[in-house]
Amino acid sequence: KAAGRNTHAVFGEHMDELLRRRRALESDLRFAVETRTQLETFYQPVFNATDGSICSLEALARWKHPKMGYISPDQFIPLAEDIGLINDIGALVLDNACRTLADLPGISIAINASPLELSSPGYSLRVLTTLANMNVSPERLEIEMTETATADNTIDLKRTIAMLRKAGVRFAIDDFGTGYSSFSRVQNIEVDRIKIDRSFIGEMHQSGSRAVVVAMIGMARAKGLKITAEGVETIEQRAELERLGCDDLQGFLMSRPLPRQDVAAYVSRMART
Ligand code: C2E
Ligand code: CA
Ligand code: CA
Ligand code: CA
Repeated sequence: KAAGRNTHAVFGEHMDELLRRRRALESDLRFAVETRTQLETFYQPVFNATDGSICSLEALARWKHPKMGYISPDQFIPLAEDIGLINDIGALVLDNACRTLADLPGISIAINASPLELSSPGYSLRVLTTLANMNVSPERLEIEMTETATADNTIDLKRTIAMLRKAGVRFAIDDFGTGYSSFSRVQNIEVDRIKIDRSFIGEMHQSGSRAVVVAMIGMARAKGLKITAEGVETIEQRAELERLGCDDLQGFLMSRPLPRQDVAAYVSRMART
């Protein structure tokens, strides 16, 4: 009995500690968003599979916590969604991305949009206004959304996508293949690209995963969609994806996400070689 009570006490303490830490992280994130400090945007180059040139950059949010250092977006994006900060963070990344677009003619940028952002009323207008304010053509922006975002394919989401696509903004389904009805989903939603999830790329040496990649590429081709493979980490994977007819490649093999100040130099160095 005593042991049981003890376990409970320890468990309870542990929960308190977790809760306390979460509260602290929430208020730290609020502070970061309100002051527009600590939040940075990194850019990962994406390469054309045929000629190896850089075709675009993916903008990725980074939180540089004053005490804990960089916190992964896999951690703070869900937190931001929970506490109503995701629109602000999305706006910040969009702002940064458009600034970078204005600075680097000839390149396009993809941003990630949370399902919550995409279904919030002012979204399309905010995107178009930001582009216009910085004098950037909408054709240079792509918006990545996960399959879960498209799961509740509401009238509002359809309208948002239609409006932005009409203006020239492109859309991609991110982490393609991880949802449970990927193939039917692309029938119901107007997109320009799929990004094959890196879990499939990482397992491509297994015949089962390779077959899935082949099927995804075949489907995308048939529908006239562009294909990006993400998480390319080995020379073998790159060679195989080129052979299979993937359009674009992204992964640590070519480049990690880069801080803003390194992007221009990287892009111009690549253009020269
Ligand atoms: P994602 O959209 O699938 O982004 C790709 C992630 O894969 C990035 O992680 C990138 O650093 C990582 N990656 C790229 N190449 C490789 C590789 O070769 N191997 C491996 N193992 N990983 C690779 P990151 O930057 O930590 O972002 C994680 C996720 O957080 C993103 O996944 C995205 O879902 C979300 N995220 C990031 N920035 C934003 C944002 O501004 N808004 C929203 N809503 N979500 C974001
Ligand atoms: Ca993405
Ligand atoms: Ca992805
Ligand atoms: Ca992901």
